[in-house]
Amino acid sequence: MRKPIIAGNWKMNKLVAEGARFVVDIREKVPPNEEVDTVVCAPFVHIPFISEAARAYHVKIGAQNMHYEESGAFTGEVSPTMLEDLLVDYVIIGHSERRQYFNETDETVNKKTKAAFEHNLLPIVCVGESLEQRENNETVDFVSGQVKKALDGLSDEQAKQVVIAYEPIWAIGTGKTATSEEANEVCKHIREVVKEAYSEDVSEAVRIQYGGSVKPENIEELLGMSDIDGALVGGASLKEDAFLKLVEAG
Ligand code: 13P
Repeated sequence: MRKPIIAGNWKMNKLVAEGARFVVDIREKVPPNEEVDTVVCAPFVHIPFISEAARAYHVKIGAQNMHYEESGAFTGEVSPTMLEDLLVDYVIIGHSERRQYFNETDETVNKKTKAAFEHNLLPIVCVGESLEQRENNETVDFVSGQVKKALDGLSDEQAKQVVIAYEPIWAIGTGKTATSEEANEVCKHIREVVKEAYSEDVSEAVRIQYGGSVKPENIEELLGMSDIDGALVGGASLKEDAFLKLVEAG
């Protein structure tokens, strides 16, 4: 049985005091880790504060990106070593906004995924097609390719722990959710790709989230599907009451 994972992706929102207040307000209300993994993925500047606020509570901390090198002349970047030092649990890798605006490629996604495991960070690897690709019936081929490239070269043990977030680009921040059947169909294909690349054992362990306009009104139906094990949530994760409803559904 796969444990649900509900992750809020704040994207580039909230000031530091607001972020810390959010974690303090929710930390005693989230369900225990034995039931659901609750993750807050915040901008880098928030991380020391929310990591401190979450310690000893059932809130896990995630970053939204990182570099794959441990240190060096990479102005403006943050390394996996730095995240590990702040007791970060998860890191989002290859979000479509990073692929679109910041030149993230399948190759850098793969390097970052491997680097995460070297530093005790669990990667949340994002994949998903554009509206044009969906309309041209390219979704399954495109998403399968992204998954294969992202996971290339991982050990079985690492592959089992990867979280894959299926986020169709056309459903992000648009209010358009994929129907739960549409979302589940792609998630099922993703699991099939993992099975072919690794084994049934690995594919049954790997957790797959859906992301794209998830909110309290649609979370239960999405989580009720056979291959959806959680959600990666943008807009609805910014409000404490909505986020708590989402994790309670997990
Ligand atoms: P929304 O929930 O705002 O559509 O964002 C989804 C997303 O991109 C989460 O990473």
